[in-house]
Amino acid sequence: MAVSKRIVLRFPPRLSGQPIVSRLVKDFNLDFNILKALITPEEEGLLVLELSGEQNDYDKGVRYLAKTGVRIQSLSQDVIRNEERCTHCGACITICPTGAFEIDLSTRQVTFHDTKCVACGLCIKACPPRAMEVHF
Ligand code: SF4
Ligand code: SF4
Repeated sequence: MAVSKRIVLRFPPRLSGQPIVSRLVKDFNLDFNILKALITPEEEGLLVLELSGEQNDYDKGVRYLAKTGVRIQSLSQDVIRNEERCTHCGACITICPTGAFEIDLSTRQVTFHDTKCVACGLCIKACPPRAMEVHF
């Protein structure tokens, strides 16, 4: 069965510069699409990927990633917006790697599209009134 999943990978500094993601293609027959990459030398890197392939290959690829020391975002996490707290300030819009927030320029209201969210958690700290919450 073919699957396509969006995952968040966090790389410790010692792994930066290594061809880890390209091995997903070569050794595990997976396709990937990079949705966002934030990698700076000497710091933790963050990569949001859409990973596609056969379920078996996907499982093996993810196990390989985990073995190398890459932290894979738990997909059971759910990020929600507390509507009562949101002030529609817009601080989350540029932070979100998958474009889950959208502003209506005429009303200045910010909409949260939860189906685009990959639970990376970047908006949690960025939201001034702490309207974004992670649930496990
Ligand atoms: S940063 Fe927080 S308060 Fe501001 S628009 Fe986004 S969710 Fe709402
Ligand atoms: S956790 Fe926040 S920043 Fe990350 S994908 Fe979801 S909405 Fe965007």
